[in-house]
Amino acid sequence: MPIVLIVAEQQPDGNLRKASLNAITAGKQLADKAGAELHIAILGKDPAKVAEELKGTGAKAVHVGAAAELEHYLAETYAPALAALATELKADFVGMASTAQGKDLMPRLAARLKAAMATDITGLGGSGADIIFNRPMWAGNVFAEVKLNTPVKVFTVRATEFTAAAGGQGAAEVKTFAPKIEASKTKFVEFKEVKSARPELTEARVVISGGRGTKGDFKEIEALADDLGAAVGASRAVCDAGWVPNDLQVGQTGKVVAPALYIAAGISGAIQHLAGMKSSKTIVAINKDAEAPIFQVADYGIVADLFKVLPELRSELQKLK
Ligand SMILES: Cc1cc2nc3c(=O)[nH]c(=O)nc-3n(C[C@H](O)[C@H](O)[C@H](O)COP(=O)(O)OP(=O)(O)OC[C@H]3O[C@@H](n4cnc5c(N)ncnc54)[C@H](O)[C@@H]3O)c2cc1C
Repeated sequence: MPIVLIVAEQQPDGNLRKASLNAITAGKQLADKAGAELHIAILGKDPAKVAEELKGTGAKAVHVGAAAELEHYLAETYAPALAALATELKADFVGMASTAQGKDLMPRLAARLKAAMATDITGLGGSGADIIFNRPMWAGNVFAEVKLNTPVKVFTVRATEFTAAAGGQGAAEVKTFAPKIEASKTKFVEFKEVKSARPELTEARVVISGGRGTKGDFKEIEALADDLGAAVGASRAVCDAGWVPNDLQVGQTGKVVAPALYIAAGISGAIQHLAGMKSSKTIVAINKDAEAPIFQVADYGIVADLFKVLPELRSELQKLK
């Protein structure tokens, strides 16, 4: 029986990265279409706790590879270990969420497995040996249907397009394996985390983003975010100006989000920005310029100064509370 292997990801704090659950759902859909078995792999220094969480998500087996050399993620150490596992399992498909780690690791793995690769898939079609991967191109303005013709096929999953796999779906067999460790030319030096009490951008139900129209003053945006329990995002113009950290960037070269509510304040709506938020359920735009392209994708729009609108919005919200 063909095998779909989904690679789960452990965060630096030891917890499972939530996007892995969305990738597992994609893996499940693929396994159904291809008549395959779903397997999950997790690597790390001590991935046992995460493996326990993965056990109930509906896979046939969870492969756990623990090694001291895998304490900090490096593509150079993870790729050989995963390639050896995929080869031993004779996996036909290997996939992972399109996170920073997934984007770094999967192409290297694909090269090792001599596999063709589809990045950032948003859907699946076809059946049996004829699987079609849907993926956005040109900043989300074109959707391609891709067929991979190599024996092993590698892909990354756009997490916002698949629901998260729930737990409690029976217990997968947990199998430990000894990861193949190769000498690495790169070395982990330091991890600098941006500490925030707000929810993670890609996991938040509500996102409030500021653009160049804020002129770098994010106080009102942050205050509204705190009132709503929302995450703060930004356009590239804002990150490039150094007004907020880069990890808040939404868009083609930043993060892709699809929250229930996306509020864009002082953002013009360049295609590269829309590529990262177009799939949000409800989009609200606040912009002084009625001709701004953001209004073409907004469900609700206000043509006004954001420094007037945001405080008013907050005081109306206070009244409702
Ligand atoms: C290869 C490539 C990749 C890129 N990737 C990304 C990406 O990932 N994410 C991204 O965001 N961009 C990306 N960009 C940049 C993108 O093209 C735009 O330059 C950028 O999104 C513009 O940011 P902005 O909307 O904040 O600024 P602007 O385009 O300058 O828009 C500012 C808006 O604020 C409004 N405004 C001004 N003052 C106020 C006020 N007081 N109240 C209300 N509105 C006000 C103005 O009317 C204007 O519409 C990329 C570009 C390239 C070439």
